[in-house]
Amino acid sequence: MPSDRPISELFAQGRPLRSLEFFPPKDEAGVEALRRTAAALQRIGPDFVSVTYGAGGGTRERTAHVSALLRDEFGFTVMPHLTAVNNTRAEVAAVAEAHYARGIRNIMALRGDLPDGSAATTAFKDGLRFGSDVVALLLELHPDLCLGVGGYPEKHPEAPSFEADLVNLKRKVDAGASFITTQLFFDNEAYYRFVDRCRAAGMGVPIVPGIMPVLSLKQITRITDMCGASLPDRLIRRIEAAGDQPEIIEAVGIDWALAQIRDLLDRGAPGYHLYILNRARAALTLAAGLAA
Ligand SMILES: Cc1cc2nc3c(=O)[nH]c(=O)nc-3n(C[C@H](O)[C@H](O)[C@H](O)COP(=O)(O)OP(=O)(O)OC[C@H]3O[C@@H](n4cnc5c(N)ncnc54)[C@H](O)[C@@H]3O)c2cc1C
Repeated sequence: MPSDRPISELFAQGRPLRSLEFFPPKDEAGVEALRRTAAALQRIGPDFVSVTYGAGGGTRERTAHVSALLRDEFGFTVMPHLTAVNNTRAEVAAVAEAHYARGIRNIMALRGDLPDGSAATTAFKDGLRFGSDVVALLLELHPDLCLGVGGYPEKHPEAPSFEADLVNLKRKVDAGASFITTQLFFDNEAYYRFVDRCRAAGMGVPIVPGIMPVLSLKQITRITDMCGASLPDRLIRRIEAAGDQPEIIEAVGIDWALAQIRDLLDRGAPGYHLYILNRARAALTLAAGLAA
C-alpha cells in the first residue's frame, strides 16, 4: 500500500475537512464494535480519522493495531496520536518509526495528560517534556511527516495565563506543526477569539475546531472539569430539561453540535474534528444534517 498523503495537502485544497477521533478499545469485543462503527462511517467518507494514545504509552500496541486496522481494512487516512509523558525519546521514536514503516505520514504530536498525582517534573524521563519537543523529535526523524498539535481555546488548565499558553502553542507551530486541532468547546465565540489571537501572534496554520456531541450531563461535566472547557447555561438547561431520557439528551447534543458546526463552517473554519467516542450515530446524523 502506498504511503499516506500528508493532511496538509488536503487543507491546501481549501475545502472544509471532516475528521473523526477513535480511541483504542480494551478488548476484542470493543475492536469488533469499532469495526462496525468504522464500516458505518465509511459512507460519509471522513477526510481522515485519528486514534488516541493513552498517556504514558498504556495503549501503545492497541493504538498501533487500531490505526493499522482503520487504514488497511477501511482505507481511511489515519492519524495516530503520540504522547511524551513517561516515555523516553527512544520509546517515542520507536512508535513513530513503526507508523512510518507502515506508510503512515500524519501524527498528532502531544505531551499527553499527566498520570493522576504525578508532578509535572517527574513524568518526563529524558527531556521530552512538551508538545513542541515531540514535534521537533518527530520532524528530526522524518521531515516529511505532517504533524497536528493540540490547541486550547479556553486555555490549557495548567497554563498560568492565556498569553503564556499562546506563546507555548506558537513554539509547536514554529517547531513545524502543520495544523492545530482544538480541545472541545461548546461556545463558538471561544474559538473565534482563540483564532484571532493565534493569527495576531503570527500563527498561520489551519486551526480545526474540535466538537463533541453531548451524551449525558454526567459525562460532559466530567470531561469539561478535566479539560477546562466551559458549558454554556443554555446547553445545561436543555440537557436538564431532557431529564433522564438518554435519547432526548443525545438529540439535544446533536442539535447543539449541528448549530455549532454550521456556524463554524459559515464563518470559514477549515473543517471540524468530531470526538465521536467510537460511536457512529452522532457523526452520521451530523453529516446528514449538514448535507441539507
Ligand atoms: C486534539 C487533541 C487530542 C488529544 N489526544 C490525546 C491523546 O491521544 N492522549 C492523551 O493522553 N491526551 C490527549 N490530549 C490531551 C493532551 O495530552 C493534554 O491536554 C495535555 O495536558 C497537553 O498536551 P499538549 O501536547 O497540548 O501539551 P503542551 O503543548 O506541551 O502544553 C502543556 C502545558 O505546558 C505548557 N508549556 C508548553 N510548552 C512549554 C514551555 N516550553 N515552557 C513552559 N510551559 C510550556 C503549556 O502552556 C500547557 O499549559 C489531546 C488534546 C487535544 C487538544
